[in-house]
Amino acid sequence: MSALYKNYARSEIAFERGEGVRLFSTDGDEYFDFAGGIAVNILGHADPYVVKAIKDQAEKLWHVSNVFTIPQAETLAQRLVDISFADMVFFTNSGAEAIECAIKTARRYFYDKDEADRYEIITMEGAFHGRTLGTIAAGGNPSYLEGFGPKAGGFTQVARGDIDALKAAITPNSAAILFEPIQGESGINILETDFLRDVRALCDEHGLLLILDEIQCGYGRTGKMFAYEWADIQPDIMALAKGIGGGFPLGACLASAKVGNAMVPGTHGSTYGGNPLACTVGNAVFDRVSEAGFLDHVQEMGKYLAWNLQQLAQKYPDLIVQIRAKGLMVGIKVAPPVAQVVAALRNAKLLTVGAGDNVVRMLPPLIVTKDDIDEAVRRLDAGLKSLASAKA
Ligand SMILES: *Cc1c(COP(=O)(O)O)cnc(C)c1O
Repeated sequence: MSALYKNYARSEIAFERGEGVRLFSTDGDEYFDFAGGIAVNILGHADPYVVKAIKDQAEKLWHVSNVFTIPQAETLAQRLVDISFADMVFFTNSGAEAIECAIKTARRYFYDKDEADRYEIITMEGAFHGRTLGTIAAGGNPSYLEGFGPKAGGFTQVARGDIDALKAAITPNSAAILFEPIQGESGINILETDFLRDVRALCDEHGLLLILDEIQCGYGRTGKMFAYEWADIQPDIMALAKGIGGGFPLGACLASAKVGNAMVPGTHGSTYGGNPLACTVGNAVFDRVSEAGFLDHVQEMGKYLAWNLQQLAQKYPDLIVQIRAKGLMVGIKVAPPVAQVVAALRNAKLLTVGAGDNVVRMLPPLIVTKDDIDEAVRRLDAGLKSLASAKA
């Protein structure tokens, strides 16, 4: 009997070692990891460069309070600012905390302007922003809210990708629009670049802030550093996590100076956020992701994987309903229950992760090669074949 909370429906498989795209279980089996710890392990497992960085730092200094200057955090923040819309950064340990900071920053910005009534944030159906009380209110998923008391106020939700619904939802209390450019948990729902531009224009027209949740779709996942770059727009605030630490708990809230400056001493804090060890890892991951050709590789591999998946979709028209892909953020909408497909693929030694809308997600490390994809596709084929023959 496990002494852990029973909130996860866990598989019994346990892993003891990873190497690149491969994971090795305690039973000695080798798996292909196309789940990537849910879009986290962007450099795969045990990347030697990052391992060396964390070992070196571990021998020097792990943690100091944020009452001191932390050079590793200064460096990483400056690097993030240099490659994004942002002017300033707050580091966290998780995605939900990055969203919490984004929400607080937006509200505090209007409070500072003597517009404290503007605190409401408009979000989109199918959103996922985390599991804290604030972020479940933002996400609005009824099953995540049920049984946890009154939903935190200040959030309204509209249909996904509906600019007219957004317009209609704006009130004198509106502060910001918050959404994921590509929704991950609800099934790789890719919002059109035109829609992103329309939302930016709408925000400008009404003096609203645009907050993007790029926790899953950002950090190179789509083949650009940030998904908003595909639309050629800039948000005012953005939340990052997952890939930014490559497996070490690290998140960040990025903001333009206009809004970020509202967060004066005393307004926010975190004990661990931005500690030397986490930021050392963050800098090492950044080094690797900013290598020449890294993002081109993601785009190329994304196209190669998507093409292969289209072939499989033709081979298994009764199993595969639709392929949704942008770079290495990939969803396969399937006909059988998604849990059944994920289990069949796991039996074929390929790890994927389920999402809403009966979608199997593939979020492989961004360092996958063509050979890796070929092998993953072979295993996918084997897994699908087992389902097809079970059906027949
Ligand atoms: C994972 C995720 C979060 C929450 O991140 P945690 O680190 O689990 O708190 C928020 N938003 C999106 C889009 C995510 O994918």
